[in-house]
Amino acid sequence: MKPLESARCQHPGGFRSFGKAGFLCPSCGEELDEYQLLRWVREAEVARDETYSLKEGDGFREIVLEERQREVYRRRRVVYGLQNRPRRQMVRPEMILVAYDPQKDVYDCRVFYKEPRPENALDRFAIAAETGRILELRSDPEFILRIVAGKVAEFHAEREGISGGGGQAPGRRVFYAAEL
Ligand SMILES: [Zn+2]
Repeated sequence: MKPLESARCQHPGGFRSFGKAGFLCPSCGEELDEYQLLRWVREAEVARDETYSLKEGDGFREIVLEERQREVYRRRRVVYGLQNRPRRQMVRPEMILVAYDPQKDVYDCRVFYKEPRPENALDRFAIAAETGRILELRSDPEFILRIVAGKVAEFHAEREGISGGGGQAPGRRVFYAAEL
């Protein structure tokens, strides 16, 4: 019996809409498009259906079946929530924390808002540390991404300048409301 994608992130917190047509898992940073999102639901349905071929009788099948059925429902709820999400408001953040992750070569971005936080707020995501990708996000239709990418661009250029000169580039930077 195949485990249900045991090695991969199960995306426990669901997804946030991200970029043009993307969805982002805040736990592992994986980005899916609409098609991949539906496939993610389909995978759980297939795993559940495979359970029917297990031997009946000792109660094990029922336990596995129940667990996989729950996962199907959970994934469907995540997708339903995304398809029916309210439009994101344009709310300026209070603070942005950008930290460079050398292992993944990305900027981990955390966005903080004044309470009450806006509905469906984009609060954590990673941006690849590549000038091309950062510039691309600066013209993203998503308001928050444009703001954050602008700050990441500043920080990235500063870091490149310092490491280019043989110095030790700073690993993180905080941007406050006045600079946004
Ligand atoms: Zn995940």
